[in-house]
Amino acid sequence: MTSPPHPMKLPPNTSLEIFTSFITRCTSLCGASNVQIISQDSPLDDGSYQDPCKGHDMHAILSKTYFVASAVVYPRDVPEVQAMMRLCNEFVIPVWPWSAGRNTGYGGAAPRVPGSVGLDLGRHLNRIIEVNVESCYALVEPGVTYFALHEYLEKRGLREKVWLDVPDLGGGSIIGNAVERGAGYTPYGDHFMMHSGMEVVLPNGELVRTGMGAMPDSQDPEELKKRPDLQTGNRAWGLFNYGFGPYNDGIFTQSSLGIVVKMGVWLMPNPGGYQAYMVTLPSDAALNQALEIIRPLRIGMVIQNVPTFRHILLDAAVHGPKSSYTSSKAPITEEEMDQIAEKLDLGRWNFYGALYGPQPIRDVVWQVIKGSFSQIPGAKFYFPEDRKEKDSVLHTRELTLQGIPTLGELSWVDWLPNGAHLFFSPITNISGKDALAQYDLTKRRCAEAELDFLGTFVVGLREMHHIVCIVFDREDPESRQKAHWLIRTLVSDCAKHGWGEYRTHLSLMDAVSATYNFNDNAQMKLNESIKDQLDPNGILAPGKNGIWPASYRKDIDKWVLGADWTSGNPPATWRDM
Ligand code: ADP
Repeated sequence: MTSPPHPMKLPPNTSLEIFTSFITRCTSLCGASNVQIISQDSPLDDGSYQDPCKGHDMHAILSKTYFVASAVVYPRDVPEVQAMMRLCNEFVIPVWPWSAGRNTGYGGAAPRVPGSVGLDLGRHLNRIIEVNVESCYALVEPGVTYFALHEYLEKRGLREKVWLDVPDLGGGSIIGNAVERGAGYTPYGDHFMMHSGMEVVLPNGELVRTGMGAMPDSQDPEELKKRPDLQTGNRAWGLFNYGFGPYNDGIFTQSSLGIVVKMGVWLMPNPGGYQAYMVTLPSDAALNQALEIIRPLRIGMVIQNVPTFRHILLDAAVHGPKSSYTSSKAPITEEEMDQIAEKLDLGRWNFYGALYGPQPIRDVVWQVIKGSFSQIPGAKFYFPEDRKEKDSVLHTRELTLQGIPTLGELSWVDWLPNGAHLFFSPITNISGKDALAQYDLTKRRCAEAELDFLGTFVVGLREMHHIVCIVFDREDPESRQKAHWLIRTLVSDCAKHGWGEYRTHLSLMDAVSATYNFNDNAQMKLNESIKDQLDPNGILAPGKNGIWPASYRKDIDKWVLGADWTSGNPPATWRDM
C-alpha cells in the first residue's frame, strides 16, 4: 500500500504519523475518493470562481501558502459529518467547514488555522429537500447554490409562484451566505432574517434542530403515509423561526459552534409585476442629498428592496479593465472619474432599485421615488429599456433584483491584471454626513495605497453596508502589500470613529474582533465561554471571527495576526510593512 502524500501543512501539534492514521480513518469513513490531501508536491492552483480551489484562498493577501488546509474531506451525509466531528475530537485536529467555498474576498474555502482539515459540505449534501409554494419557503442542504435553487424553480414553473433572493454572484450557497449574514437585493435581502430553522451538527457530533424543528414530526403513521412532507421536519419549522426558549440560531452564524447541515429559507411570493430602475447622480454632493431623501423612504419601506449606490469606478470596472480607460498606473483622478462617467453615460454615483407589485402599485411608488429624487439637480432616471448596451450594469441588476442569479459582477475583479480582491465592509448610518465621511476617509487611504476606490453602499432597513472592493494584482507582492496595508489601516481608522465591519477576511478577523471591545472585551469573553463549553477541544474553526479556543489562547501570540497593529503601532505607509 502506498503511503499518502505529505501535506503542505500539517495540522498544529500533529506528527506526520498521526496525520496519516487520521487520514486512514477519514478514508474508511467517507471513502478514498472523498479525501484529498493538499500535497506539498503539487503547486497551489487557484482555479476559478466556477471551479474554485478548496485548500487555499485564491485571492491570497498574505503568502498563498499561509492559509492552507492539510486535507479536504467530502462527507456524503449528515452521519458522516457527525462522525468526522468525533474523529477530529479524537485526534484533536482542527476542522474548517464550508458549503460552496466561494467566499471570495473573505478567504474562499481556506481555513484560518494553517493545516486544518477542510470539510466540504457542498459536494454531496446538495439536496433541495422541500419547496413549499403555498407557505413560500424551501428547506435546503449546504451544497444548494443560488443557481441550483433558481434552476429548480424555473424547471418546474414555480417562479410563477415564488422568487428567490440572490447576492451579486449566484455560485455561492444559500446556507453559506446566510450563516455569514450576507445580503441580497430584493425585499428579502437580509438572508439571516429570512432563514427559518436550522439543523446543526455540534462540535461533539450531536445533531440539533432549532426553532420549531426541535419539536418532533407527527408520530401518527397514518398521517405520515398521507403527508410525506412531514418527514422533513416539524410542520412549522420553515414558518416560525423562534420556537420556544432561547433563540440559538444566531450563535451558529459567523461562528465556530456548529455545522449547519439543513436550513429553511423564506421565498418571496411572486409580486405580480416588477420594474428595475437606475437613478444617476452627478456628484458626491448629490449623494449627500440623495441619502437624506431615501432614509425615510427606505425605513418606511416605500423603497421596497435593498437598493445600492454604486460608485462610478465599480460600474466602470464591470465594463472593462483600468487599462481600457487610462494608461496611467496611478489612482484615477477626480477629473478622470468625470470623463469615465461621461463616456459611460453614468453618474458619479448610480442608484439601482426596483418596484414590485401590480402596475397601479408600481406607478404610485415610482411617482414618490422619482418625485423625491427629482429634487436633486442633475439626477437622471432610467429603466433597462432606456439603455442600449445589453451588458450594462442596469441590465444585470434587473436580473439580480428579481432574484435571478448571474455572474455579471465577476468582471470588476479584472480591473487590474491578475485581479484579486478583498472586501472592506464597514456599517454606516443612512446619512449623507456619515456616509460621505466614511467615503472620504476610505478614498484618501486608497490613494495613499496607490489603489482605486471601487465601492458601493448597500442600503438595509436602518443602516448601510459600505462595501469597498479592494482590487489588487495577486501576482505582484507589492500590490498585495498595498491592499493589506490599506485594509488594516481602514479597520483601525474606522474603529476610531466608532465604525465596525460586518464581516471580514481571514487575515483581519483578529483585527476586527479586537475593535468590538466595549467594557473590557466583554463580548469576546462571552464568546470564549460559549466556545469553551461547546467545543472543549477547540477543534471547530478555531480563530474564526477572532474567537480562539482555550487551548489556543495559552499560546495566543502564535495565532493572532497583526497584534502589533491593534496595539497601536500601524505602519504609516504600505512601504513600511
Ligand atoms: P459561499 O456559499 O458563499 O461560497 P462558503 O461556503 O465559502 O460561502 O462559506 C463561507 C463561510 O461560512 C465558511 O468559511 C464558513 O466559515 C461558514 N460556513 C459555510 N457553510 C457553513 C455551514 N454549513 N456550517 C457552518 N459554517 C458554514
